Amino acid sequence: MRLTRNLAAGFAFASAVVAGVVAAPSAPAQAQAQTTSFEIVDLAAAKKTVALTFDDGPSKYTPQILDILKRNKVKATFCMLGNNVGPYAATARRVVREGHRLCNHSRSHPNFTKLSNTAARNQVVWTQNKIYSVTKVRPKVFRFPYGASNSRTRTVVRAQNLRILGWTVDTRDWSRPGTATITSRAVKGTRPGAVILMHDGGGNRSQTVASLNATIRQLKAKGYTFVLA
Ligand SMILES: [Zn+2]
Repeated sequence: MRLTRNLAAGFAFASAVVAGVVAAPSAPAQAQAQTTSFEIVDLAAAKKTVALTFDDGPSKYTPQILDILKRNKVKATFCMLGNNVGPYAATARRVVREGHRLCNHSRSHPNFTKLSNTAARNQVVWTQNKIYSVTKVRPKVFRFPYGASNSRTRTVVRAQNLRILGWTVDTRDWSRPGTATITSRAVKGTRPGAVILMHDGGGNRSQTVASLNATIRQLKAKGYTFVLA
């Protein structure tokens, strides 16, 4: 509500400034410039959000990602595989302790469009139970492996009270294109409200780790604030 009110106030004030400029072209240029640029920054800041998401962990790379996020005071969303939560239980608990969001990414990363309803449900429920038993948190979000879904499997997931999470920026970090490329894909692809897809598990993620600090710094420099997906 506060955001809505501030936005409305910002628009009203910006309109008043524009009207003032038209009505009084002889007003001091400096005063006009200050007021106008302040309003533009304020309105843009209200909308320039971005969410970082990390899939297929937890893994041995996850603690390095957590260190970078902590240093930058940024929270992210971790889409975990049920099968990885037990072997990296301490890491899964650290993700929760440090204020990040957990997301169910299935037990073993199958293509859900090829699963029966029962098999799909088992993938989701087993992972919900595993994450809860280890972290005492029950995820409210689910991301399909490969983003592959259909209306049948989306119904199965939603029946477990899970919101389906997609992405808007695919860094393809898993293909190890180089750290500079991962960062430039993330930053150039980001628009207000973006959800950036990266991977903290499923293979060698050293490039993802090495690219993350620059990605965060460049997005901050562009005026983005980080939100949970
Ligand atoms: Zn995945």
